[in-house]
Amino acid sequence: MNRREFLHRSARFMAASTIAPGLVSGAPPSGKPNIVLIVSDDHGYADIGLQGCTDVPTPNIDSIGRNGVRFGNGYVSCPVCSPTRAGLATGRYQQRFGHEFNPGPPSAENHDFGLSLHEVTLAERLKKAGYATGMFGKWHLGFLPQFHPMKRGFDEFFGFLGGMHSYLDPQGDREGAVLRGTQAVNEKDFYTTDAFTREAVSFIERHKSQPFFLYLPYNGVHLPLEAPERYLARFPKIGDEKRRTFAAMLSALDDGVGRVLATLRKNGLEENTLLFFISDNGGPPANTSRNHPFGGFKGQVLEGGIHVPFLMQWRGRLPAGKVYDAPVISLDIHPTALAAATGVLPPDAKFDGVDLLPFLTGKKKGLPHDRLFWRFGEQSAVRMGDWKLLRMGDEPPELYNLPKDPGEKNDLATQLPEKVKELQAGYDLWNAQLMKPRFGRGRPIVPKSAREGQAGGAAP
Ligand code: CA
Repeated sequence: MNRREFLHRSARFMAASTIAPGLVSGAPPSGKPNIVLIVSDDHGYADIGLQGCTDVPTPNIDSIGRNGVRFGNGYVSCPVCSPTRAGLATGRYQQRFGHEFNPGPPSAENHDFGLSLHEVTLAERLKKAGYATGMFGKWHLGFLPQFHPMKRGFDEFFGFLGGMHSYLDPQGDREGAVLRGTQAVNEKDFYTTDAFTREAVSFIERHKSQPFFLYLPYNGVHLPLEAPERYLARFPKIGDEKRRTFAAMLSALDDGVGRVLATLRKNGLEENTLLFFISDNGGPPANTSRNHPFGGFKGQVLEGGIHVPFLMQWRGRLPAGKVYDAPVISLDIHPTALAAATGVLPPDAKFDGVDLLPFLTGKKKGLPHDRLFWRFGEQSAVRMGDWKLLRMGDEPPELYNLPKDPGEKNDLATQLPEKVKELQAGYDLWNAQLMKPRFGRGRPIVPKSAREGQAGGAAP
């Protein structure tokens, strides 16, 4: 360690030892914690060991919940990829700025799709606060140069710009090659998950003596189903070839999480790092990911599409092994990270998410949210307390008591018209604040009569 590094580390240690006065409730010591945000893709609620997965061990992902907090009611703001990432980046409901849908492919008419340049990203705010910022993985927030991750707050980028990519061929995709910055990568024996992990570990090693923001959105376990033999060989007993490949992909992802955690540990950074793990939406039938006990899947505002694995760890700051059951949402990650990093939230940020830390440490009582909303084309939903009102196109509204009926099978709308009215009024107030979608389109509605067989998200 050179003198500069030593002084830097000492300053961080001293800062972390004292609580500065005047910070917002639940704010951290004045030392700036590192922020790590790991995102899995199309990874259903029941596909981590902590939430019932038995055929694919996920010890490293599970360790985040064991050493920190597992959210029993953790949601994303959309049941598909790009809109959730727009909400994640901004801390705001993405429909407020027209980012309601996935784009089509770059060749389609919405080629100019991208995260609104009027919005401020978490990476931009953390960079301004003195953080080194690195992103390794799937972007899906714009193809044109002005939307590139390095134009949206990241110092470094290694990954791809589209919504899906070959795992094995860095140049094998119509939506563009895997890039380092803006240069196409040409590597042999490539596997995206391992490459993103390698880059993330390198980023930590290179920036361990300064505050850093690591954004690690794996494309695992999104389609295509591709895994090298070294991971497939771990699952000789899974007979379904699709599920076996999925298991290999998830296992690689879990290894990656483990390597990131080990790198933090090795460098003594665990107690100065706030880490999140979340999936961007529920599991789709196509990759065999499971959403048990929820019905529905990716692309639907049924619980199976939006209720996801969501974990958070900050050794020494958050209780270990806590299960937190109040409803929370992906939009909370930006303000939570920013409050941890800077101690303040900009008053003009207009976040829909909230700082979760004071709720998790017990400094703040009550609920982070008394209501959460979803709008995805013709589908909409609102959750208020235990109740969820759901609309699928022109079908009559459906009302569910989620703690009693997580599978959304027992529709109480006709029995409780007043409750329907109350939730609908809450939804209408929110909906009136939103923009029309700027690009893309929704998914076809699955009528209620055709939902049988989706419950539990079993393999197709
Ligand atoms: Ca996804």
